[in-house]
Amino acid sequence: MATTRSGGAFDRVPFDALLKRRLFFTPSFEIYRTASGFAGDTKGLFDYGPPGCALQANLVDTWRKHFVLEENMLELDCTVLTPEDVFKTSGHVDKFSDWMCKDSKNGDYLRADHLIENVLEARLKGDKAARGIAAAEEKDTSNDPAAAKKKKRAVKDIKSVKLDDAVAKEFEEILARIDNYDGLELGALIKKFDIRNPDGNNEVLPPVPFNLMFKTSIGPSSGSIGYLRPETAQGQFVNFKKLLDFNQNTMPFASASIGKSYRNEISPRTGILRVREFLMAEVEHFVDPEGGKKHERFEDIDKIELVLLDRHTQLAGSTEIKVMTVGEAVRSHVIDNETLGYFLARIHLFFQKIGVDPKKVRFRQHMANEMAHYAADCWDGELLTSYGWIECVGCADRSAYDLSVHSKRTGEALVVREPREQPLKIEEWQVDIDKKKLGPKFRKNAKAVEEAIEALSQEQRERFAQTLDNDGAISIDVSGLPEGQAELDKALIQIVRRTRVENIREYTPNVIEPSFGIGRIFYCLLEHVYWHRPGDVARGVLSIPPLVAPSKVLIVPLSRAPGFAPHVKKLSARLRTLGISHTVDDSSASIGKRYSRNDELGTPFGITVDFDSLKDDTITLRERDTTKQIRASVNDVLAAVVSLVNGTELWTDVLERLPEFLGQSEDE
Ligand code: AMP
Repeated sequence: MATTRSGGAFDRVPFDALLKRRLFFTPSFEIYRTASGFAGDTKGLFDYGPPGCALQANLVDTWRKHFVLEENMLELDCTVLTPEDVFKTSGHVDKFSDWMCKDSKNGDYLRADHLIENVLEARLKGDKAARGIAAAEEKDTSNDPAAAKKKKRAVKDIKSVKLDDAVAKEFEEILARIDNYDGLELGALIKKFDIRNPDGNNEVLPPVPFNLMFKTSIGPSSGSIGYLRPETAQGQFVNFKKLLDFNQNTMPFASASIGKSYRNEISPRTGILRVREFLMAEVEHFVDPEGGKKHERFEDIDKIELVLLDRHTQLAGSTEIKVMTVGEAVRSHVIDNETLGYFLARIHLFFQKIGVDPKKVRFRQHMANEMAHYAADCWDGELLTSYGWIECVGCADRSAYDLSVHSKRTGEALVVREPREQPLKIEEWQVDIDKKKLGPKFRKNAKAVEEAIEALSQEQRERFAQTLDNDGAISIDVSGLPEGQAELDKALIQIVRRTRVENIREYTPNVIEPSFGIGRIFYCLLEHVYWHRPGDVARGVLSIPPLVAPSKVLIVPLSRAPGFAPHVKKLSARLRTLGISHTVDDSSASIGKRYSRNDELGTPFGITVDFDSLKDDTITLRERDTTKQIRASVNDVLAAVVSLVNGTELWTDVLERLPEFLGQSEDE
């Protein structure tokens, strides 16, 4: 059950109403949704309003500082429009799809795994209700009548049907493994448990793959197919050679990109958590595959504790977590390598920095079938919300997959070449061909024969060397020749054992990729920091940390009398100079109302200018979560605001060193 930071049950109704009222985000093209005759599908499309834009910008800024600047990553901004060839090569055209079911009667499209998940979860809830467990969990704790009504309806919708113990256990196990099923298995589950579209109870057709990329054509010719990118990664891979050169051929290094990506989600239903256009921030860390993918800063994070749900646990049908340090997890091979572990810890620290509730974070390892077509190991950074655990960051070891396939397709060597400290001596079988004889003998097929010879493995060469010695000739397979084989004698080919000295080492780097969906983190963070003052559900508070809060300070003049305006103007100019975002509320609303409006916007500090301020140049500073205030000179208060926003001081420190102010009640 999701809870708020004050420990009460999380109630999505007043929370959603707050986000809507304060215009954090809103469905796109909303006025068209109600217009008659509008046929477009605008589900999964959202616009961010003023506080939403500011919060998103601050999250991105924190992300850049935490990852890009901290590690000198090479930042790129690549195009969204991508030619088909690139995504054919990367595998996205053939494999970037989800399993989709169609309602047999009303034509609804449903994502197969989500359909099963929703139906089984509803049945388990019904089972709990029948056993009388649900009552306690679903009890309404708010005092908002609208919310209570909606909740009552939702509870009534659950069919209270008791399941067999064995069936309930099987459902739990299926849910723990839900991401690991392929289309056939999902189809079998739908049949076995008679799973139907909850909207109308119709049967659904067997799952089929649905490619998630938006297809378009680039330029006036319809033959030039393109796609909107579903991730920023490929732009970084295709620029690898230029980046390596920019980095003076030094490894390891990372590139990073922040930009929009597009996925044609089958049935987006969970607000901004699953959308068709979203902001991604991705890192591609290029690492030498030899030597266990070590990370030189691993020591810095070795002792950080992570909450882990590994693949073996899930495959056994359980979701039991393990808490261990990154160091222990890597050394015991729960996490595959140091670089992967390093980034999981850095993601954990990023969550902490932006104010995510540490009790609602876990890292879940992908099961084999669930892994993307390019991945060798993958962990999702998940955050707990009222919708359950939400994948907010994917951290994948993409091995050498992407660079290898792009290199093969383009002929561009996407490799690292490094001088060896010690030259490497390699004993090997080498082939000498007399090309003056090969050409006339095989004419137009000479090139194919030469290529077939060069492609022979060391084992084949060794065997053929003996045959040449014994019989004086060999025959090798060459596709394209009429007889399928080429006869080669000793005069044309020699196979000799020699020593080759290699001074240069050439390898394709492996890639560790932390991939962040900014919108998902944005939403989960808002759920985590939402609460309301005791007994007052109408006054929501968003305890967003000062670092990422949309606006840091609210200036509230107590009166509209002459003399206040110049004071406020001067304060505002000083905050601007200090780079502190702020707003002024000089409306006639009561001071309490003005503050509670800003509690809902997550504004951490309020400055009140009162009649005393005009006389002695002191002001009060109010902290959002405690509503406590201090009173001091403008200079001292502004210095405190700067250190609070920069994180060099906490409110408790300020409260200790500056005098608390008890005079001004918020209800005045
Ligand atoms: P993936 O490449 O599927 O691992 O996705 C990387 C990250 O992008 C995820 O961890 C999410 O945070 C985000 N993401 C993926 N799909 C969506 C979506 N449809 N809507 C919002 N965010 C998404």
